[in-house]
Amino acid sequence: MKLPEEIKNIINALSKAGFEACAVGGCVRDFILGHKADDWDITTNATPDQIQKIFGENARYENKFGTVVVNAETENPRLKEIEITTYRVEEKYTDKRHPDVVKFSSRIEDDLARRDFTINAIAWDGKEFIDPFGGQKDIKNKIIRAVGDPQKRFNEDALRLMRAVRIAAQLDFKIEEKTTRALKKNARDIAVVSHERIRDEFVKIISSRNAKKGVEELSGFGLLKHIVPELEEGIDVTQNKHHIYTVWEHNLRALDWAAENDYNFETRLASLLHDVGKPRTKRGEGLNSTFYNHEVVGAQMTAKIMERLKFPNKIIEKVILLVRYHLFYYNVDEVTESSVRRLVKNVGPENVDDLLNVRMSDRKGSGVPKAEPYKLRHLRAIIEKVSLDPISVKMLKINGDNLIKLLGIEPGPKVGYILNILLDEVLDDPKKNTKEYLDEKAAALNDKSLDKLAEMYKDAQVKTREVAEEEFEEIKKKFRV
Ligand code: ATP
Ligand code: MG
Repeated sequence: MKLPEEIKNIINALSKAGFEACAVGGCVRDFILGHKADDWDITTNATPDQIQKIFGENARYENKFGTVVVNAETENPRLKEIEITTYRVEEKYTDKRHPDVVKFSSRIEDDLARRDFTINAIAWDGKEFIDPFGGQKDIKNKIIRAVGDPQKRFNEDALRLMRAVRIAAQLDFKIEEKTTRALKKNARDIAVVSHERIRDEFVKIISSRNAKKGVEELSGFGLLKHIVPELEEGIDVTQNKHHIYTVWEHNLRALDWAAENDYNFETRLASLLHDVGKPRTKRGEGLNSTFYNHEVVGAQMTAKIMERLKFPNKIIEKVILLVRYHLFYYNVDEVTESSVRRLVKNVGPENVDDLLNVRMSDRKGSGVPKAEPYKLRHLRAIIEKVSLDPISVKMLKINGDNLIKLLGIEPGPKVGYILNILLDEVLDDPKKNTKEYLDEKAAALNDKSLDKLAEMYKDAQVKTREVAEEEFEEIKKKFRV
């Protein structure tokens, strides 16, 4: 077992100057586990001033918690910036988020005692482990245990509630009993933590292999109702004859499939949320209950959930699309190229693969043995076939400037209407995407009134949105969704 060269150099420089220095925290934990550490942190009895003196220009002191960032000369991006933190004891946390004061200490034991879990409270100088809380043993037994009194530790800093569940999911560890009890007792304090910090932990849970277990724990501990309460609406909500699981269980199993197959984050979240609209749209009970429009309601709920958690708009938009269109229809004999083109247009060509993956999660999560590999292959083939067909006005063989010149009209809404009406025809038949045809058609459209064009434009929009669905009516009726 060896420290990375870059870390050893920093530790050596500090000890040559007469100070103690060790790697500490998540990096030591990951190293013992044989995982790649994301970031290496060093702790020392040198004060920020003393650290800066040793590393000179390469050191940057940027926060009041006593952390100095040192630039290392390395090709490894994870080791370019290393955080060196002075030993510290933490005092009171009045707001359950930040310590009121930060006090430096000269003893490493103090610094380890302020850390959250035993597995994160091990220091290592490359030769010896300093492990006063039995972290190595807990790593061996795969246990998350609070350092000291769990009740007090969660009460100090409520983010630790999420960190426990997140680290347990990432490492597939079990949260020890006393720690679990304190977690449940303090769960409601998660509400004082900022949405951004909750989101970051939530993303890590969903991105881990044990995402399903993580979400189940969030719920079991009483945290989920403060984060994504909408998901819990599905608990005990039974479905109709096409399903064997409740909505909650089905959503979780869909997520599990997505995690098992290492789908990207958006696809995982869409798998988890794809049926989130079902409880609110359920009509009737038993084998014949229905869930009409759950994908539309679910997409709206997805938007609310993700906006609340302050996700970037681009990610929100993508997950909404995946939830909104997860019901797309594809029956080998019935699906037309025109409807596949409109599906691709709706969901965006860049999202098609992910949409198919959400569909896989949906089917696998429903307990259906096969995920219809033949049908899916067939659909993929059609998508491939239509992939070069025009699906946006940008891909037409005529553009706004051409149109203005050709028709001698002013820039304005009329141009957009005509282009979209032309696109509608081309979506039905890509062979019509020639300059000759479109010029002629545009000239004919130019004779119509602006109101008439506006109406045709609106019809075309609706058609694109609905055509897919019209063809899906059958499946929707069949499955009562
Ligand atoms: P990862 O880097 O994989 O997300 P980590 O455990 O390394 O996980 P960091 O946020 O990098 O988490 O924190 C580094 C170390 O700082 C932790 O291992 C832990 O010792 C300590 N730490 C981090 N957050 C807290 C907290 N909220 N309360 C107490 N100690 C913490
Ligand atoms: Mg870390």
